[in-house]
Amino acid sequence: MAIVVTLNVGSSSVKFAAFDAARDGAALARGEADGFGSHARFTAGVGSSGASEQTPETEIKDHASAVQAAFRWLRKQTSGEEVVGVGHRIVHGGARHSQPVLIEHEVFAELTALNSLAPLHQPHNLAGVQAAKAFFPGTPQVACFDTAFHRAHPYVADVFAIPKSFYEQGVRRYGFHGLSYEYVTMALREIDPERAGGRVVIAHLGNGASMCAVKDGRSVASTMGFSALEGLPMGTRCGELDPGVVLYLMQERKMSAADVATLLYKQSGLLGLSGLSHDMRALEASESADARKAIDYFVYRARRELGAMAAILGGIDVVAFTGGIGENSAAIRERICEGMDWLGLVLDREANRAKRTTVSAQASAVQAYVVATDEERMIARQMRKVLARK
Ligand code: AMP
Repeated sequence: MAIVVTLNVGSSSVKFAAFDAARDGAALARGEADGFGSHARFTAGVGSSGASEQTPETEIKDHASAVQAAFRWLRKQTSGEEVVGVGHRIVHGGARHSQPVLIEHEVFAELTALNSLAPLHQPHNLAGVQAAKAFFPGTPQVACFDTAFHRAHPYVADVFAIPKSFYEQGVRRYGFHGLSYEYVTMALREIDPERAGGRVVIAHLGNGASMCAVKDGRSVASTMGFSALEGLPMGTRCGELDPGVVLYLMQERKMSAADVATLLYKQSGLLGLSGLSHDMRALEASESADARKAIDYFVYRARRELGAMAAILGGIDVVAFTGGIGENSAAIRERICEGMDWLGLVLDREANRAKRTTVSAQASAVQAYVVATDEERMIARQMRKVLARK
């Protein structure tokens, strides 16, 4: 059988999978490595059996060793199968890429130039491309972009009100989490074909968090912007911030650009506010007042953005929750939807707590769904199209 391999190298994890190259379907094998340097974990399993394997912590020190372990494991599980392509989640595709592409030499150089726009992700994504080229020599490498789904935004959704030459030079809102949004948009077509083509808000709430307004199956607005910092507060990223704060930190507090970047990308968000953890599960389990306030802020911003998305769309037909928090925290979903009956959104508390797919009440005009995202499967789908063109 011909197979395709997917690689999703995030800021703190490496996800990998193998799929049938000929048809869409669940992964043949998949796994994840995380906790590099401290509590490294490598979990992987074949098919839907859920069987999983763990390797000794010492083997995985960083992203590079995690990627190598992933490839070795995939090769062992799929020996005898022909790997006909490796697909990569690439966080930033710039203004030009609205479709997945083969990673030729020039494309790689172009994507490297975007490193500073997504410093937590893009360099790791591209290191993954190089590792895959070395491990699977001669195999086509395909870039699948998190920004691509948002490329049809109207001008007003992407522009900043600074002199327009900056927009022309690429200083604009790109939006991220596009692979997740595209996957959820397709899943909604199966769950609720009638409404999925209407006015949809998808809340991708995980370590990275954003919301996307989708109309007729296309993204029209996203809370994420030029970098992956804007919009909702995240695990360690600040979300929306008055740019005056950055000026103040640099001019008055004499922080260097590198210090400000570390502050906003790695020390802010849920971690910064709680002083405890970037992890929602840990905060929900905590008795600390600061943990509670961090969650309050997360919910407040999510509610505010939901209202903004509703205004842009002229009302909502469907709200979908995805990502680690969106899929698993009934409490956060409940708090985001509380008192949203003015919008036509009423949650069914029992369904919500029972982890059903449909979590809106019967009387709710807006349908609310919980959809498990699958960026790997989306990468495999996109990759098949690129390889077919080739
Ligand atoms: P992701 O980046 O999509 O993997 O999401 C990670 C986030 O999801 C972390 O903040 C986790 O604490 C959170 N998460 C995962 N499972 C749960 C759960 N059962 N309840 C609350 N938060 C969860």
